[in-house]
Amino acid sequence: MNEPDWKGALGEAFEEALGYLEGLPSRPLSGYPGLAELRAALGEPLSEQSLEPRQVVADLAAAAEPGVVGSGSGHFFGFVVGGAMPAALAADWLASTWDQNAGLYVLGPAASVVEEVAGEWLAELLGLPAGVSVGFVTGAQMANFTGLAIALQEMLRRAGWDLARKGLWVAPEVRIFAGQDRHGTIDRALRFLGAGTDAIVEIAADDQGRMLPAALAAALEQGSGPAIVCAQVGNVNSGAIDPVGEICEIAHRHEAWVHVDGAFGLWAAASPRFRPLVAGIELADSWATDAHKWLNVPYDSGLAFCAHPDAHRAAMGSKAGYLMPAAGGERDALDYNPEHSRRARGFAVYAALRALGRQGVAELVERCCELANRFAEQLTAAAEVEVLNHVVLNQVLVRFLATDGDHDGYTRRVIERVQQDGTCWMSGTTWQGRAAMRISVSNWSTDEADVDKSVAAKLRCARQ
Ligand SMILES: *Cc1c(COP(=O)(O)O)cnc(C)c1O
Repeated sequence: MNEPDWKGALGEAFEEALGYLEGLPSRPLSGYPGLAELRAALGEPLSEQSLEPRQVVADLAAAAEPGVVGSGSGHFFGFVVGGAMPAALAADWLASTWDQNAGLYVLGPAASVVEEVAGEWLAELLGLPAGVSVGFVTGAQMANFTGLAIALQEMLRRAGWDLARKGLWVAPEVRIFAGQDRHGTIDRALRFLGAGTDAIVEIAADDQGRMLPAALAAALEQGSGPAIVCAQVGNVNSGAIDPVGEICEIAHRHEAWVHVDGAFGLWAAASPRFRPLVAGIELADSWATDAHKWLNVPYDSGLAFCAHPDAHRAAMGSKAGYLMPAAGGERDALDYNPEHSRRARGFAVYAALRALGRQGVAELVERCCELANRFAEQLTAAAEVEVLNHVVLNQVLVRFLATDGDHDGYTRRVIERVQQDGTCWMSGTTWQGRAAMRISVSNWSTDEADVDKSVAAKLRCARQ
């Protein structure tokens, strides 16, 4: 075998990456090749012969790059999507290079310690109690899954049922309460867990999507037995935050577990200015959040925290006979994760936090919220625009008002035109039965100019 051509392959990737990143701020967000074109460009028969790594990388970049969405750019406001900061991206390259299996300490001691350290930093930044346990998972979907898996097993244990051994078939019922405007990943997690979505008792929410504590209290009164309450910090549409302290007090009066879905909203806690919005967050039992949204590390990166480390390990741990026991306090990540072998995604989180520092994280959160307000202010100045939500965080819901009264149709047409225009990109949504454009400001590099250009593009498209 020839000497491996690291320089050829990695050098090519470096040049491609640099070219991509330098072009990202001006990359149009429309005009991608269609499905058939992409299949034609990428879908050749598998070659019989091997190819030079450098050539493979160059071909891949040439064929794939036209179909790459510039969602990491400062003028992308669709869904709730973060970019990748330089330190985080570079650390992620190293994570691939080192190729550690972060499931076990013995396979990645540095990866394990980095997660331990970053986990402590995060708990402090996000206002969680000292000593919480943490799993570095793929995203908030799996963080919700992890939190709810722990909650189910622990609540059943307290009711005298060993879920790990006996399963759910004939287990005592666990009542699960969640706000009517919860994220769909809660339902999906309950499907994966075998609890099923019928297990959910829906709690009414207010016009911003916040769970009503009085409705929760009334629902909890109506029965007894083990219970889990799913609170939400950051509604994916409005950004609204449940009164989480009050919810925890009510739930704990009934000895219920509180799981918080804080995929992006939990980051409000990292800003002294916004922390009051999540007052009482430390009272919950488990928390889910994303690093790939507001912390701006590359996909895929989410975090599951738990205030009861023993319950966390009991639900997730995997102490098979062939695994070496961690005698010296070493942390095996698979005791906290649903995955077994996995990527060392802690390196990027660690690097992002070091690059920003405590103040930098606060500024990132505050800047995004200020820019969301800038969107709201500039757009409401236009006669044909209505902002539907209280802009408490980084999310803005916008409706375009038609002269013929078909606001839904007009709003959807404007969204389509803006998406085709490519100056910026946002998705549409339905908010309380009405079509809306959803603007999410979650990128580290977004600035005033991005907002101003995007507002101009939207009004231009609306007035076409
Ligand atoms: C984005 C989001 C999720 C899902 O997160 P993923 O990172 O896509 O798994 C869950 N809950 C809320 C509130 C979200 O905004």
